[in-house]
Amino acid sequence: MTQMLEMPRVQTCSVSACSYNHDGCTAFAITIGSMNSECDTFVDSGAKGGIGQALAQVGACKRADCVHNSDLECHAPAIVVGPSVDKADCLTYEAE
Ligand code: SF4
Repeated sequence: MTQMLEMPRVQTCSVSACSYNHDGCTAFAITIGSMNSECDTFVDSGAKGGIGQALAQVGACKRADCVHNSDLECHAPAIVVGPSVDKADCLTYEAE
């Protein structure tokens, strides 16, 4: 039997320079990186990206020292992405 697992939603993303941002993140899923909880999916290419709806989920997160992270997966109910150290970082990150 196939089990559907719920991934955390990207509740808001304020990074308007990203090709996936059209009134919110329209990537199917994003990956958060290990350095500064940066959004690894961020791209400023001029190309139009996304699935046309702001329903992005957190597919993977490499920030193992976050309280919401277990086995390199995010278990927060939802996350917020915005500028911090990098142009696009997970602002829901909380050190263990
Ligand atoms: S809340 Fe923590 S575990 Fe979830 S995406 Fe952000 S840094 Fe990763």
